[in-house]
Amino acid sequence: MKYWAEEEIEFLIEWYPIEGAKLCAKVLDRTIISVYQKAFKLGINSPYASIQLTNVEYKLRLKDTEYLPVEPYINTYTKIKHLHINCGYIWKVRPNAILNNRACPQCTVLGNIPTYFYWINFPKLGLDKVGITTNINRRHHELGEYFIIKHSVKFDTRRKAYDLEQYYLGLFKPYMINTGELKSGNTETFKWP
Ligand SMILES: [Zn+2]
Repeated sequence: MKYWAEEEIEFLIEWYPIEGAKLCAKVLDRTIISVYQKAFKLGINSPYASIQLTNVEYKLRLKDTEYLPVEPYINTYTKIKHLHINCGYIWKVRPNAILNNRACPQCTVLGNIPTYFYWINFPKLGLDKVGITTNINRRHHELGEYFIIKHSVKFDTRRKAYDLEQYYLGLFKPYMINTGELKSGNTETFKWP
């Protein structure tokens, strides 16, 4: 084990709580783990240093946020899949970024793009479907089945379209049926009585 010089310890005490293990490791030419262990021994904490969290502890940390890990937590720097509860988007991101309020990329990119809520019918399948999209015409190709638009509403943000979709999905719950016949989106199909 490499000896820790007094200046190194001073640097750690000053910068670790602000910048975390990654930067300290880079500056001091040490591994992240050794920096983390030294900081732990010195009893100094950093909001960026969650390497020691267990899977359960990490889930608890996210309890009051809009995000949920959907893969086991490894450490703060290893990307794992997270779910954005508000929009349903899943992507790989470092827990460190989530703990530091990184926003969902789908909501950031598409947040202010006009989005359609749609209710469509597949005559051949005898199924209906609701969903949201930025381009309803493209959905023919994506779903792989001819459909008729029963109802569509344009919103100025994705969030508003998503809220209406969730409302309808709740309403149609008793009629939902997943026949697996579409190329995608089979979980939002239902048989309208
Ligand atoms: Zn989102």
